[in-house]
Amino acid sequence: MQRLDACVRSLAPQILEFTERLVGVASENPPGTSYPECVRLIEERLRALGLDVERVPYRSPGGERDRSGAAVILSGVGSGRRTLFFSGHYDVVPVSTPGQCRAVRRGNALFGRGTADMKGGLAAMLYAAIALQRVDVPLHGRVGLVFVPDEETGGRRGSAHLARLGRLGKDGIGMLTPEPTSGVVWNASRGAITFRVTVHGRQAHVGLMHQGRNAFDDAIRVVAALKAHAARVGRRRTRFHLTPSEARRSLMLVGGRFEAGSNFNVVPDTCTFTVDRRMNPEEDLATERDALLALFERMRRQGIDLDVETLQEARPSGASEATPLGRVLREQVRAVTGRAPRVEMCPGLLETRFYAEQGMPAYAYGPGPLSVAHGPREFVRIDRLVECAAVYARTAAALLAPASHPVR
Ligand SMILES: [Zn+2]
Repeated sequence: MQRLDACVRSLAPQILEFTERLVGVASENPPGTSYPECVRLIEERLRALGLDVERVPYRSPGGERDRSGAAVILSGVGSGRRTLFFSGHYDVVPVSTPGQCRAVRRGNALFGRGTADMKGGLAAMLYAAIALQRVDVPLHGRVGLVFVPDEETGGRRGSAHLARLGRLGKDGIGMLTPEPTSGVVWNASRGAITFRVTVHGRQAHVGLMHQGRNAFDDAIRVVAALKAHAARVGRRRTRFHLTPSEARRSLMLVGGRFEAGSNFNVVPDTCTFTVDRRMNPEEDLATERDALLALFERMRRQGIDLDVETLQEARPSGASEATPLGRVLREQVRAVTGRAPRVEMCPGLLETRFYAEQGMPAYAYGPGPLSVAHGPREFVRIDRLVECAAVYARTAAALLAPASHPVR
């Protein structure tokens, strides 16, 4: 382990430089710009480091053309079937300030879009694999490196595409993703189902109100039913850790987006609003979806004319912290940082769900602070990039150690 640490430390300049190069490619999503350039940069680096590269281009299931150039890149070190996956996304949310796609170093901090979420993490996971190879750590199995696009918009052209091809998590014994977790380990994430509801009425001048039907009035009745439902599900709490305990509730946000009518003196003929249901890992996506669809159906039977469009769906997932990977990860975080990490549920969505669906434990642990991800002052601490690379390398070494070569 000491030799592995030393090797990771010697790779620190490359970790930093590769993070800066990745940040320099504006792979903003939505809509998904510069994907081909980002794919090329990652592939060139993998080849330069002597690793195999496989590109899995996105193909839409319906055959529609996609011009984004989205592709998953697969690589890895070690041999054999059992695989520990390091998977991360190379898309970033759109910049908040002009010039944010140029990395800027200030002391121990590297500023720029994607430094925390998660191009810094990608560099750390790649060079962790390189350190395993350079130190020639005996591995019973391999580390699979997976670089995906589209995480910020649900994974359609990335992890979901790989899953649809039956290629996600093949022979996996676990998965680790370097999301910005602020030093904690995330072992669970909420699921989501998001609807856009459109209530239809009939337009009329305010003076001829009797000729119209107020879509806003009807929407209020739908919203009242939704709020009652939100109060019911809000009494459910996850057993996964999250502080404060308020945060452990099952959630539903009504009206994140809301729009109605055309002017103050016209009876509105449409009213549109969003419903964002975030379920806990103990809840089932299909059950929660059906409960909401039944509610909408009830409202229709009461004479309300409404349409419902599904904007996104994602299953919740969770892994025990006591799996072999969960234990090793916590041990190695403590060994590297001097402190055992807290284990918590992620407040948002995580691509760990795709791997959990394949039946393996999946966790997030990464160098970035969550508080700055997606914001105008996004940064990552440079010493944290190196620490995380050491954690990843040690975790793989310990988890994949052959019985004949226990790692010390
Ligand atoms: Zn992310």
